[in-house]
Amino acid sequence: MTHDLVVRGDTWDVAVEDGRIAAVGPGLGPGREEVDARGLLVLPGAVDAHVHLDDPGRADWEGFPTGADALAAGGVTCFADMPLNAIPPTTDVAGFDAKVAAAEGRSRVDFALWGGLVPGNLGDMDGLAERGVVGFKAFMCPSGVDEFPAADPDTLGRGMERAAALGLPVAVHAEDPAVTGRLTAEVLAAGRHDMRAWADARPVEAELSAIGAAIALATETGCALHVVHVSSAEGIDLVATARAAGVDVTCEACPHHLALDDDDAARIGALAKCAPPLRSSAERRALWERLAAGRVDTVGSDHSPGPPELKRGDDMFAVWGGISGAQTALPVLLSEAGAQGLDPARAADLMGGAPARRLRLAAKGRLEPGADADLTLVGTDDPWTVREEDLLYRHPVSAFTGRRLTARVVRTILRGRTVWGEGADPGAPRAGRLVTPVAA
Ligand SMILES: [Zn+2]
Repeated sequence: MTHDLVVRGDTWDVAVEDGRIAAVGPGLGPGREEVDARGLLVLPGAVDAHVHLDDPGRADWEGFPTGADALAAGGVTCFADMPLNAIPPTTDVAGFDAKVAAAEGRSRVDFALWGGLVPGNLGDMDGLAERGVVGFKAFMCPSGVDEFPAADPDTLGRGMERAAALGLPVAVHAEDPAVTGRLTAEVLAAGRHDMRAWADARPVEAELSAIGAAIALATETGCALHVVHVSSAEGIDLVATARAAGVDVTCEACPHHLALDDDDAARIGALAKCAPPLRSSAERRALWERLAAGRVDTVGSDHSPGPPELKRGDDMFAVWGGISGAQTALPVLLSEAGAQGLDPARAADLMGGAPARRLRLAAKGRLEPGADADLTLVGTDDPWTVREEDLLYRHPVSAFTGRRLTARVVRTILRGRTVWGEGADPGAPRAGRLVTPVAA
């Protein structure tokens, strides 16, 4: 039969009908449209489960149009937007509806939404689950924005209880505010405001303390726990040990912690400020060892841009904490994995199949009949340098500017239609849809 689209790979083809994968195998065809992907990696469309597009309310920081365009250029066909930085935050049904309204017709790729867990919104969790959030995000320390306060231990415990009953995971930003608060006061009292001071105020011990507390609550409540942006090998080991003991806990690593270190941070300045901060080169190598050993469960960009006036200056306690990385996440991951001799398809799964399975986005992250026909074609020996003029962000700056990468996204296909790369129509309507998890 003639398919809508056939993507021809080196050893097998993917056939597409009505936006879904119809068949995977050798010698399929013909297709009304055919894409030659020989010599390229043919991956399930990447899933970035951790972005902040700040829309509505702070769309001048990013917004769905530019943010999702950048994600498409980075090989991502589905992202999960975090509940904070938008105003209103996604902490109740009205906030959820406002965000869906802001995304519809304005996102180039499909999107899912995290709900928020904050003091006082336990009663909103059922409604958010009904709307289709993929889980609940909580901060164990101040989030950086006033309208999304930290979850105290009581809120976190009771929220996990409710999330467990709803069959949804809780994701935590794990840094212990008692540790970071004390050390921040110390470095500021010493008159230090530079990047090294920022890192000294947020050491690995702060992360370990918070991860330990979150795991204890997950153990008590039976809640599925996902620890985002773990920056230390010891943190990953805490998660792995708990999982071996039967706790439903997973962890995420970010490209910036995998690819940049504290010397890079000191050199780059404000654009490399993030929390937890960039670590030593030894810690960075140890993260890769854990990733190679299969202990890192997912990779997400934690794309968290700010307006230019908040991403300039030398006072690291004043500038916005967040790295713009949505467009480069998959290329950075695959380039670094390639340099270390890791199997690229396995590395890519950390930003595709793995987050889709964790968030139960059943149609995403797999090249199998019936799944959405989301494909990312990547050249793995196609060197390029990240340049500001190629970034599609609203504010085209990045901690990765100037970086030489070997993996390049050649084409991104969403439900059978090319949304980025050769064959894409930049004037085509932005047709990204809300994606919700299947029931547990
Ligand atoms: Zn984040």
